[in-house]
Parts: sequence; structure tokens; C-alpha cells
Amino acid sequence: MGIVEKEFQLKILKEKISEFSENFPGKNFVFSDGSCLSEVMIIGEAPGQIEDKMKKPFVGRAGKLLDKMLESINLNRNKCYITNVVNFRPEENRKPTLDEILIFRPLLLNHIEIIMPKKILLLGATAANAVLNHEGPLHVVRGIWKKIDINKKNFNVLTTFHPAYLLRQPDAKKIAWQDLLEFQKL
Ligand code: URA
Repeated sequence: MGIVEKEFQLKILKEKISEFSENFPGKNFVFSDGSCLSEVMIIGEAPGQIEDKMKKPFVGRAGKLLDKMLESINLNRNKCYITNVVNFRPEENRKPTLDEILIFRPLLLNHIEIIMPKKILLLGATAANAVLNHEGPLHVVRGIWKKIDINKKNFNVLTTFHPAYLLRQPDAKKIAWQDLLEFQKL
């Protein structure tokens, strides 16, 4: 898909997602950042307060750490495509509910199909739940390459810790670093 077609498909997807804005009164639509031509797609959970204000994913504290994580493997925002499972900030910064994940899952899978990344980095349990259908503890899937099939197209997926978790548990950064090195290999 060329850039014109991609941008057209993304516009249609945006319109579909914006229909759910009434479930998140007063919140902004936070769609994505980076290049839609990138081979690397990064998927977080949902926007926080700053992301809601700026209408851009990962621009708060967790986003600053994500930038450092990307830098450590010679990536940056312009070389990636960044989005979230849920595109609106849940009330009081709560985690998205299972119902919300189920609502957004088909839209997210459609999003992946449009971007057609060579590899996808999932940040934390919500992204692992939405993309890999994984509901148990994160360590079961973390650091392991998985393949997902969306309409007969295969995508390579690796899960690591969410940067917000790493801010709370800095000891886990060593493991996240291993995951990033693994992600860099493909
Ligand atoms: N956490 C996320 O999962 N996504 C953001 O955009 C910001 C913080």
C-alpha cells in the first residue's frame, strides 16, 4: 500500500474510532504519532492526562522513557509508528476495562493491517491482551517473539514492560533492555 492509500485507509479508521468518543465524554481523540511508512509499530495502553491534552500518544513521563528506550536501539519517534489500544483517556487514568479492549481490538487489528509493520512492540498487559489475546501474567509472553495472523497476513510481535511500569519498578529495566535487544534483532 502506498502512502496515499495508507493515509486514506487511516482516515476511514479514524472516522470509525471517533464514533466511540461518546463513551469518553470530554476526552480528546489520541490517534497516533510517527511515520505510517515505518516498519516498526509500537502499541501502548491508552492516553494519559498529558497525551489527552496534547492529542499525541506517549508525550508524558512514560513517553519520555519510551523515547530513551527507542534511542537505546537506534530508533526514534520518526522511525516508528506509535499508537494505543484505546484512543481516548479513560476516566481517572484507570486501566481500560476488558469490554473496552474488546471494543477497540478489531479497530487496532485494522490499524495494524493498514500500517503493515515488519515488527510490533507491545507495551504492557493491555496491549498483550488486545493483540495476542493474552490474559495471564505478562512474563508468560514477555520477551518472546510471537506471530499473529490478521486476514491471512502474518505479523511479528514482541511484548515488553510498559514504560509506566518501569518508572515504578526501575529494577525491571534490565529485563526490558534484553527485550529491546531482542526486538532490534529482527
Ligand atoms: N501510556 C500509554 O499507554 N499510552 C500513552 O500514550 C501514554 C501513556
